[in-house]
Amino acid sequence: MKFGGTSVADLDRIRNAAHHVRREVEAGYDVAVVVSAMAGRTNELVELVERVSPMYDAREYDAVVSSGENVTAGLMALTLQEMDVPARSWQGWQVPMVTDSSHGVARIRSIDTSHMEQKFGEGLHAVIAGFQGISPEGRITTLGRGGSDTSAVAFAAALGAERCDIYTDVDGVYTTDPRITGRARRLDRIAYEEMLELASLGAKVLQTRSVELAMRYKVRLLVRSSFENGPGTLVCDEEEIVESKVVNGIAFQRDEAKITLIGIADKPGVAAAIFGPLAEAGVVVDMIVQNISEDGLTDMTFSCPVADVPRATRALEAAERTHSIGYRDIVTDTEVAKVSIVGIGMRSHSGVAQKMFATLAAEGINIKVITTSEIKVSVLIDRRYLELAVRALHDAFDLQDAA
Ligand code: ASP
Ligand code: MG
Repeated sequence: MKFGGTSVADLDRIRNAAHHVRREVEAGYDVAVVVSAMAGRTNELVELVERVSPMYDAREYDAVVSSGENVTAGLMALTLQEMDVPARSWQGWQVPMVTDSSHGVARIRSIDTSHMEQKFGEGLHAVIAGFQGISPEGRITTLGRGGSDTSAVAFAAALGAERCDIYTDVDGVYTTDPRITGRARRLDRIAYEEMLELASLGAKVLQTRSVELAMRYKVRLLVRSSFENGPGTLVCDEEEIVESKVVNGIAFQRDEAKITLIGIADKPGVAAAIFGPLAEAGVVVDMIVQNISEDGLTDMTFSCPVADVPRATRALEAAERTHSIGYRDIVTDTEVAKVSIVGIGMRSHSGVAQKMFATLAAEGINIKVITTSEIKVSVLIDRRYLELAVRALHDAFDLQDAA
C-alpha cells in the first residue's frame, strides 16, 4: 500500500491512511506500506537546499530531500502501533534498497527483503520510507520527484505482493482530465501500455517509471482514493481486460513548442548533426518530422517543451557555426499544444487516426504535426484550441460510456 503526500499531509490523514492499512491487516494480509513525505514538504526541502547552495552537491541534496519520508514513515508506524497494529519503519538504507549513484535521479539495483520478511514472520507489518535508497558508496540517494510510486512498485515486485495499491487524492485514472470535460469517466481497468502513454503524456497520477516497472514485473496496480471507498482503477496486463474500447484515453501537453529548420541539405548525417547537439543541450525532443526534399533541400520540424526553446535555439545556432548544418532559417512556434488519443484497440482497428482528423476538422482546428505509434496518435495544434479538441475527441470516441 502506498500513500502519497496528500494522503499523509497531517496527523489526521495519517490516521485515516492507517485505517486503510488496518483493514487489510484484518483481512489477513502481511502489509508493506510505502509513504511519501507530507504534502509540500519535499518542495520546502528542495528550496532550503537551493537557498544554501544553488550549485548544490547532489549527495547532500539527497540527504536533505529524502528526510521528509523518514518523518512520515516513523509517524505511520507509531500511528499503527496506537491502533494495535504491530509495525516498524524502514528507511531505504536499512532495508537495504540499493540504487546506482545518480543522485537525485537514482535507479534501483536491488532490494533485499529478507530482514523485512523475517519480521513479517514475527507478525510485524512494514512501513517503508519511499523515494530513497542507498548507493554502492553508502550515500543516501533519491529516485527523482514522484519517486515513491516507483519505490512502492519495486517493493511489491521484490516481495511478490498480490497487489500494489496506490492511495492518492483522486479516485482513479480518468479518460481525460475531468477539469476539461465533465464527461471524463473513471476507468475500471487500463492496460500497462496505455497507462504508460497516459503517464508520460502528462496524466500525473503515477510516475512514469513506476508504470514501466509494474509492466516489466507484472505488478497489478490499483489506483484509488484514500478519502473515499471507491473501486479505483486497476492497471494490469491487457489479458486481464475483457472489453476494451478502441480509444481509452485522451492525453495532452499544453506547453509545447514547434521548431522548424528550413532549407537544410537532404544528405546523410544532417539529422545527426541537428539532434546530437540538441541532446547534449538536454533538450527533450518529442515529435520529429522531415519533409520530402526539393532540389536537395528539405525542412526538419521537431517539438519540445516551451521551456527548452532558448536552449534549443542556442544549441542549433552553435551547431550551425561548428558543424554547418546549413539551414536557411529557424522558425519557432511556442503557441502549440499536443493532444493524443491512446488505446490498445488501435492495433487491430483501422480508421482511428482518420476519425481523429475528421473530428478536429469539423471543429475547424488545424493540425500542424502528426505522429503515430502502435497504440497512440498525437497531433500538435494551436494551444487556444486545446480544450475544444479534447472535448470533441472525448465525444467522438464515446469515452463517457463504459465499454
Ligand atoms: N516526496 C517525493 C516528492 O515529492 C516523492 C513522492 O512523493 O513520490 O517528489
Ligand atoms: Mg506522488
